[in-house]
Amino acid sequence: MRDLGFRARGRNPKGCTGPQFLGEWTLFVFGHVGLSFLGYHLWGSSRGGESFPKGPGAYVLLAFFSLLPDIVDKPLALWVVPELDTTRWMGHTLAFSALVCAIVWRFLPDLLIFSLACPGHLLLDSMWRSPHTLLFPLLGFKWDPGTDPNISLWELLGGNLRRILSEPHLALPEIIGLAVILVIGARLSWLALARGRETYIGPRG
Ligand SMILES: [Zn+2]
Repeated sequence: MRDLGFRARGRNPKGCTGPQFLGEWTLFVFGHVGLSFLGYHLWGSSRGGESFPKGPGAYVLLAFFSLLPDIVDKPLALWVVPELDTTRWMGHTLAFSALVCAIVWRFLPDLLIFSLACPGHLLLDSMWRSPHTLLFPLLGFKWDPGTDPNISLWELLGGNLRRILSEPHLALPEIIGLAVILVIGARLSWLALARGRETYIGPRG
């Protein structure tokens, strides 16, 4: 099957001491977004009944910041700098997350809580297992190896599907994340419908 130019890579870069690719779980969109929503609600409910933003804008911001490291890294690593051999680099460093939070804190302080989903992404990616990348450039100018195999996107999706079937626990964060997204989506839709009914004044005449 034609791979449409989507390639994922996972060879160890020269001088890199990290582990070789072991066929790890690589797609994590629902997990990142849904678990960020969950963390946000836990933070909100820990504030002793104080209200916190729960409109669509809050969730769009959370989704954006929770995926920002991948939004930055994946396209660049796959198509712009393919010699990197990893799809986790600049966007997956602590320095990038700190910079994002600092910029938001300085210019849009009300949005700081949403920007914390960016370092949260590093936590969910278990970036402590890739210290060269996480702490770049403190441990030298090198990146840890990617966790994506050197195969096409379709092979990657097929491989992940096979892994879900053989090791269902790997998909648990994705399932929990998807469930949270569906619950919040249903709540927002219900609120929008209720608001629509309130403003509906009925047929004339
Ligand atoms: Zn990532």
